[in-house]
Amino acid sequence: MSQNKKIIRSIFRESVFQRDGHQCAMCGVPASSAQMLDAHHITDRNELPAGGYVAENGISLCAICHEKAEEWHSSNHTRCVEGFHPDDLYRKVGSSHEKALQASLALHRRLDR
Ligand SMILES: [Zn+2]
Repeated sequence: MSQNKKIIRSIFRESVFQRDGHQCAMCGVPASSAQMLDAHHITDRNELPAGGYVAENGISLCAICHEKAEEWHSSNHTRCVEGFHPDDLYRKVGSSHEKALQASLALHRRLDR
């Protein structure tokens, strides 16, 4: 399973970066050797089936934007930087919590086989 997990994680990262054109989806800074992007989980890993490792639950973020997005998670959903609420992030990449949930369920079913 752990080998499986590695593959799922790398597919997740690649598909998120590719969809977002290898730039930060929030501020548009491009990926480079100096600027590593993160594939951020919009909804926490433990709140979706299969860890939410689906492009529908991911967004490419630079370090600064990632920190802003993490505020929501690190504050237990009590604080959020304006414009960085999960709903805002989903909208930015043309997804939604419902789409992320459905894609995660589908991934979970595939892994179960
Ligand atoms: Zn950014």
